[in-house]
Amino acid sequence: MHGRTKIIAEYIWIDGYAPTANTRSKWKVLDGEVTRLEDIPAWGFDGSSTKQAPGDKSDCALQPVAFYPDPIRGIPHILVLCEVMNADGSVHKSNTRAKLRRLAKRHADEEPLFGIEQEYTLLKNGRVAGWPEGSDSFPKPQGEFYCAVGADNVAGRALVERHMKACLAAGLAYAGGNAEVLLGQWEYQIGAVGPLEVCDHLWVARWLMDRLGEEYGLTVTLEPKPVKGDWNGTGAHTNFSSKAMREPGGMKAIRAACKKLGMRHRQHIAVYGADNDQRLTGLHETCSIREFRYGVSDRGASIRIPLATAKQGYGYLEDRRPAANMDPYRVCAALLRTIFSVDHGSLGGD
Ligand code: ADP
Ligand code: MN
Ligand code: MN
Ligand code: MN
Repeated sequence: MHGRTKIIAEYIWIDGYAPTANTRSKWKVLDGEVTRLEDIPAWGFDGSSTKQAPGDKSDCALQPVAFYPDPIRGIPHILVLCEVMNADGSVHKSNTRAKLRRLAKRHADEEPLFGIEQEYTLLKNGRVAGWPEGSDSFPKPQGEFYCAVGADNVAGRALVERHMKACLAAGLAYAGGNAEVLLGQWEYQIGAVGPLEVCDHLWVARWLMDRLGEEYGLTVTLEPKPVKGDWNGTGAHTNFSSKAMREPGGMKAIRAACKKLGMRHRQHIAVYGADNDQRLTGLHETCSIREFRYGVSDRGASIRIPLATAKQGYGYLEDRRPAANMDPYRVCAALLRTIFSVDHGSLGGD
């Protein structure tokens, strides 16, 4: 044997597709150990193939920002999450992480924590997994699929389980999961951790789901309303707390946050995912996209204050509006901006 350890580094980034971006990745073999981020070289890619650059100036740069043990190739290989930069080193316009980076720093003293519930729907050959063949055939009406067990009531569990183990082996803050209301629809949660961490982990978890799906012939859709009609949509409830909210008397800060959120409903909806109007109808455990309401234990509200939080007088709030296909960097940035905005006394009320 000669030479140093070869480490396969899978560089992951977010492309420029709008309104919903995708993850992309390619691998590079590194010579020698990686113990710190600085050990991982910057890299580049052809931005003209990802809607990130014109053909005549196609070079985009990849700046590593976090790395994780690669649960698929195993130790010592790594997954490298990157920010996309322009060739001159400035922030690329598709790079939504850079904005959150600045906001997270500004509000670090308030110790914000986020937990994101990522719902998704599995497809097999273009049809929802587990659904009978033929476009006019449907499963039984929804009701028995949520948190279900049994071959008639769930589809794709082998992938779901494999994905969970991969997320944990990568060291992601994967917190749990469940089968959802629509047959073939599932959820996992990431958090509760800080703003950059929750978003980075969620994007890597999304990449792992797409990547592992290849091995099962399953694809993932994050469309907010994958099946029209009396079938649940697909969301990404975003749970939030600040230090003040988590301390005795925190309900005051939680209610103040809800009021601020109500004043910026439209600005939030603008970054809460594409086609979310199809999901936020007021039916299927949602509040209409045209309304804003908050309430304790209310799954028909825009913001739910969990019962346990209301009972003990402190805890966190759940923003139920984000769609499954949202960009967490933008959602978390909007929440930080609104909730920590300076109250000029114009809000009135109690
Ligand atoms: P539900 O399905 O009842 O809405 P879940 O258990 O799926 O709730 O998700 C709750 C999420 O809230 C989890 O991701 C969890 O990490 C997060 N969470 C719990 N406590 C806090 C907190 N203090 N601040 C922010 N998020 C929190
Ligand atoms: Mn949940
Ligand atoms: Mn759910
Ligand atoms: Mn929820």
